[in-house]
Amino acid sequence: MNNRTISQIIEPQLVIEGAGVLLRRSIAPRASNEYDPFLLFDHFAFNNPLEGPIRGFPTHPHRGIETVTYMLEGSVNHRDSLGNAGKIGSGDVQWMTSGRGILHEEMPRRSENGNIYGFQLWVNLPAAQKMSQPRYQEVSAGEIPVVEKDGATIRLVAGELDGTRGPVTEIAAAPLYMDVKLAPASKFILPIPSGHTALAYVFNGAGEFGDQIVESVSMVVFNDDGSQIEVKSEAGVQFMLIAGAPFNEPIVPYGPFVMNTREEIEQTIQELRNGTFIK
Ligand code: FE
Repeated sequence: MNNRTISQIIEPQLVIEGAGVLLRRSIAPRASNEYDPFLLFDHFAFNNPLEGPIRGFPTHPHRGIETVTYMLEGSVNHRDSLGNAGKIGSGDVQWMTSGRGILHEEMPRRSENGNIYGFQLWVNLPAAQKMSQPRYQEVSAGEIPVVEKDGATIRLVAGELDGTRGPVTEIAAAPLYMDVKLAPASKFILPIPSGHTALAYVFNGAGEFGDQIVESVSMVVFNDDGSQIEVKSEAGVQFMLIAGAPFNEPIVPYGPFVMNTREEIEQTIQELRNGTFIK
């Protein structure tokens, strides 16, 4: 079994999104589609009252993608144009398949101790599913299986690990998505299918990823040169492991839309203007 090596370590950049929300962004949608099938990864961390009130993400559209929100502290209230509404609480996951389109708002709220801590991942949809019916998979904290293995505590959102299946299923990218916490002096090994993209977002501590020491906060991008990833840690580390099958299709990203052609983007903008975006 060969360990995958690291191709790139990305230092997240601070960006302002929505109505003035400060985020750490490590990848963003680009036509080069380097992390296919993954498009974007944002880290919300408002742990300082000086950052002021959280204004959130007022009504905005999405088409052609999936947005995956995973909260560790605080919550996100959401509401969409189709009548769906709810709260993504601490430890919960929302896997939203926008398909042909939704208009929604997302409003982060601080926990009692004042913190907001969570992640949003965007996963691409293949051409054949870009105009599919919107779908939500909402999983509360207690429904996410926890796998304990050799000093690793893994919350399994999507994919399979040692015979346990994550609750989010039927996703085109066949993703693995898990929150991995390694105790000091432990090791984690995970098989990754050949050809699948693999990323690790390291947000606490430090560890050895494919022979390189990586400190938080960093996005690790793995090469496709081995059958597994191996992570070791002396002092302990926590990371989101993200892997999936690339679609190998051209993409045209435009803000909250990711389609395959310019014409599809133009049509989307046209529909938004003339009020036919929501079918
Ligand atoms: Fe959104």
